[in-house]
Amino acid sequence: MSPIQKPPNTVSFDALLKPLDLGFVQLKNRTVMGSMHTGLEEQWFRLSRLSKFYEERAKAGVALIVTGGISPTLSGRLSPFASQFSSWLQLAKHRKLVDAVHAHGAKICLQILHAGRYAYHPFAVAPSAIKSPISPYTPRALTTRQIKNIIEAFAKTARLAKRAGYDGVEVMGSEGYLINQFICSNTNKRTDEWGGSFDNRMRFSLEIIRAIRQSAGKRFIIIFRLSMLDLHKEGSSWQEIERHAKEIEKAGATLINTGIGWHEVRIPTIAAVVPEAAFSWVTKKLKTAVDIPLITSNRINSPELAERCLQQGDADMVSMARPFLADSQFVQKAMDNQSQLINKCIACNQGCLDRVFKQMRATCMVNPRAAYEEEFPLSQSDSRKRIIVVGLGVAGLSCAYYAASRGHQVIAYDSANLGGQFNLACEIPGKEIYRETVQYFEAQLSILGVEVHRNFEVGIEDLRDVFADAIVFATGVVPRMPDIEGIDHFSVMDYESAILNRAEIKDKVAIIGAGGIGFDVAEMLVSNQEEDWYQSWGIDKQYANRGGLLKEPVNQHSKRDVYLLQRKNEKPGKNLARTTGWIRRLTLRRAGVNMMTGVTYEKIDDFGLHIVHDGKKKTLAVDHVIICTGQESENALYRQLRAIGQPVHIIGGAKKAAELDAETAIREGMVLAYTF
Ligand code: NAP
Repeated sequence: MSPIQKPPNTVSFDALLKPLDLGFVQLKNRTVMGSMHTGLEEQWFRLSRLSKFYEERAKAGVALIVTGGISPTLSGRLSPFASQFSSWLQLAKHRKLVDAVHAHGAKICLQILHAGRYAYHPFAVAPSAIKSPISPYTPRALTTRQIKNIIEAFAKTARLAKRAGYDGVEVMGSEGYLINQFICSNTNKRTDEWGGSFDNRMRFSLEIIRAIRQSAGKRFIIIFRLSMLDLHKEGSSWQEIERHAKEIEKAGATLINTGIGWHEVRIPTIAAVVPEAAFSWVTKKLKTAVDIPLITSNRINSPELAERCLQQGDADMVSMARPFLADSQFVQKAMDNQSQLINKCIACNQGCLDRVFKQMRATCMVNPRAAYEEEFPLSQSDSRKRIIVVGLGVAGLSCAYYAASRGHQVIAYDSANLGGQFNLACEIPGKEIYRETVQYFEAQLSILGVEVHRNFEVGIEDLRDVFADAIVFATGVVPRMPDIEGIDHFSVMDYESAILNRAEIKDKVAIIGAGGIGFDVAEMLVSNQEEDWYQSWGIDKQYANRGGLLKEPVNQHSKRDVYLLQRKNEKPGKNLARTTGWIRRLTLRRAGVNMMTGVTYEKIDDFGLHIVHDGKKKTLAVDHVIICTGQESENALYRQLRAIGQPVHIIGGAKKAAELDAETAIREGMVLAYTF
């Protein structure tokens, strides 16, 4: 067994763990668990699930929790069955939730969110009847009376929240939702007192804050989530944002939280490609304009980064949302000087946002217990069993970890080092952070005393007569090679060799297969590590123009000629994840990658790759042909052992290679471990 425990952390999180005095209430420290929609909000009949989710995080030291967005009205719901809080009949349920959090000394604010034109139903309303590009429904323009009713509805929800015991509310004024739609002129074409001048356009937000303050009283936290960087051409100017912030303070807000970008804008703001703490400079810019505390957010996933933001004076508090999905013990580990052992959010969005968009319950790729705390409690198994895990890619790592943490004796083998296919992802620009996940599991296995055998090729003779209660095969996949004439030509390489030998790849490349890995390889080939990330996405840190955008986009064309090919006649990358697929397609388009669909492969020879496209024969004169055509399961040993009656189980790619992703693999590992 090798010594893989992480070294002790030596950073002291002075600023992060310091309390914050808001005058009428003191917060334990400066961490906010930001608003996240988990899908449990709508399951009021199973409230204990949401309670357990919040409770586990409150118990581990988070200072302030902001709930997922809850609408004050029917029209403001995000989808027809999304949650709404507007009746006293709902008080008892909310009270249970609040009590669970308060029992551990944390505070909780209810986020009030009116979707406006982002509502995914026919009752959508907005300042003007202008459809958003991300909803099929054209909203109805609000009448003056309806505007006043919505302001009153916000106040009523806040009043109810106070009665339920919430410490305050967060008013969602950013990300392109209703309040933001009033503020910006592209969505507000009104000519009455709610539109036209900036004073008129910000009136709606200020009236809401005043109404809440009046109805909920002085000793009630009001956080306003302010869009500090709209990232579209008709967004607010910096002068307007400063004015608005000052007015928000005057209207009675307690804290201002940072909102970045509108959901419809095609600039990434939270994905893994976004640099760490990429937007804390925006919060800092506002520091001198107001006296109330500011909260910064976006791509802050470690106590070190949070501490850095606070030490630099970027903000007074740090909001993290997905990092609390990845590790409920985030603050506790920082307090115990063990931040090195935190399971880091890798900003993949696969377990959280992508699932929510599919109307599924959110969880976390690296922590599949998130939002499933009730079904998978932190408990020990009744009897200690002997479990053998073969293959330590992420499926095997997860199974070994959860089995050992439930008290079983675990012995694990891998024919190489730990991490499997996930190690290839770590080599893709923007996914380097994935290494954190492998390191996390590695450290946990060491702490839990799992016997790990690396570079050990397990054979039938090792397992035929061995005693074990369960032998888990997580032996993964091998790249699939398609049947194309010339597939053995020297110019052909599989994706694994291409990723591991990328320095040797010349300038003309054809990629066969435009799935997740084809996209990964194409991104690797066109990535330019020297370019400034902000400029490459048109963001102006000088904030000279509206929305914080550069006047002219920067040319992103890659010097490599890359072809990305598929046989199907459908949009390339159609099946990529909802919240990150567009970033990947856009990155390749801007880099000039030639994406071809409906391709037939004829042969590969010294002249290049011969294809038929649009009914015409073509030869792509390339130096390399990289094969990204999926995988095949590695499970021969599993089948042999099953035949002789050993208690075998199979998970991950070894079970099903097609469409398997890391999120499913890690979850399968955990689910199986809980059956032992
Ligand atoms: P994949 O998504 O199944 O894509 C395989 C590609 O190869 C398809 O474009 C397919 O398109 C083509 N193909 C399949 N068989 C072929 C054949 N015999 N000849 C020629 N072309 C063939 O597989 P993958 O790209 O290897 O990804 C594996 C899994 O990992 C997927 O589930 C993926 O979602 C996941 N992954 C996810 C990410 C992420 O960022 N979330 C990144 C990488 C991988 P045609 O059949 O149309 O030619």
